[in-house]
Amino acid sequence: MTGPATPPPGVTVIVIPQPTVNGPLHIGHLSGPYLGADIAARAARARGERVLALAGVDVHPNYVLTKAELLGMDVAEVVAKYRAQIMAAFQGARIGWDAFLDPQDPAYQRAIAGMLRELVESGTVPMRETTLHQCADCERTLHHSYVVGTCAGCGTGANGTSCEGCGGLTSAQNLIDPSCARCGGAPRPLVVTIPVLPLEDYRPRLVTEWLQAEWPVQVRSILHHYQRAPLPDYPLAYPTNWGIECDGPLAGMRVDFPTELGLSYLYGPATALRPEARTLAERVAAWEDVEGVWHFNGMDNTFYFTVLYPAILAAAGVPTAKALGATVNELYLLEGQKFSTSRNHAVWADEFLEKEDPELVRLYLSWDRPDRYESDFTHEAYRAFCEWVRPLLDRVGSHPAGGDAAAGGDAAASGAWLPDALAPAELERAAQALRLSGFDSALAVRCLVAALTAGTGAGSVALAALTGRSLSEGEGR
Ligand SMILES: [Zn+2]
Ligand SMILES: [Zn+2]
Repeated sequence: MTGPATPPPGVTVIVIPQPTVNGPLHIGHLSGPYLGADIAARAARARGERVLALAGVDVHPNYVLTKAELLGMDVAEVVAKYRAQIMAAFQGARIGWDAFLDPQDPAYQRAIAGMLRELVESGTVPMRETTLHQCADCERTLHHSYVVGTCAGCGTGANGTSCEGCGGLTSAQNLIDPSCARCGGAPRPLVVTIPVLPLEDYRPRLVTEWLQAEWPVQVRSILHHYQRAPLPDYPLAYPTNWGIECDGPLAGMRVDFPTELGLSYLYGPATALRPEARTLAERVAAWEDVEGVWHFNGMDNTFYFTVLYPAILAAAGVPTAKALGATVNELYLLEGQKFSTSRNHAVWADEFLEKEDPELVRLYLSWDRPDRYESDFTHEAYRAFCEWVRPLLDRVGSHPAGGDAAAGGDAAASGAWLPDALAPAELERAAQALRLSGFDSALAVRCLVAALTAGTGAGSVALAALTGRSLSEGEGR
């Protein structure tokens, strides 16, 4: 008896968030979404699953121009400098991808502007008279880094993007006592006719997305809020001085950067799966092969990956809900205090990886991952970990055949604490902990290290994914 043929499983898109090029990555960033997403993607590939890891850089938040103005530098130099540092950090940490979103690529810019134009020309995205705000003194449109105020939801100081305190959406329109972050000027109304996404219209689809996906508890509490609160009309583009320039009926406006990111998550997988796709409909058709999307991100971006990005995919015409889930993390501390660029209280990832062993950096930052609480990087603990784990890695070598048996003897002679009979279970638990559902790289490292003390683990999925080593033929158990 044979049942109907099962269709081949679709591609799981894993989103590695695009770092904004207004500073280098520090190891706190690596410890959160960046290493987590890379490890999960490697483990999924080793299991034979179809994954598409999407990475990139983010050039179009106006935080980039603000940073250049603060430094007194040319903005193009700032972009080039931080982009180079971010790419060095990715390379040093062995963070890889299947598709890279490059906002400085003219083809990417044309695609983003073109998809938004198509959505407006088809009437899917309405043009509405909307009241934004501009600075009464310097006349800049007050959005993102250009505005500062107090979050109406939780009282935390915030810019006009999202609140680090509660993860809520913030803007010049809903902040308490907003003012111009550049010159301190007061806001004055700016009435414009712009493309908006009426998110409330997408509520049924969004509820499906929220119910079908696996969300961490911090994300669920924010979704609980959106379940009752009205969803806003979200401005997709408007007149300002930074961002991808629109064309056609939107000439004179620029794409809001979260809109760009949402469209880039449509464009990236579509271009990887069907490189010939040029129109919105062709790109949407490429999504037939996509099983769903899993975001690695900070909790403060919850509005975007649970509301805006899924609504943009729905508006574009992707017919079914694609949210699979998200993995978020808490802040990572450095020697007991928050990482701070302004106080230079940071360990920059590119510099650190120039002199450190990338395998030990990946293993340690995973072992100490700030997932359940704000864990704390200390140099003393990092050194102790390296001195403990490097010899264990060296003992098993990188190949299973022969190495394990010989090394097992060594481990026993040196007083291994894991009985050989328990090693397979530790390796199995490590591999299972690297699935997207219930992802726990801190547990996986502990299991792997236990197995290493028994002289086993070379050639395992966990060792390859956690260290970033490539698996050889016949390995992957
Ligand atoms: Zn101003
Ligand atoms: Zn807040």
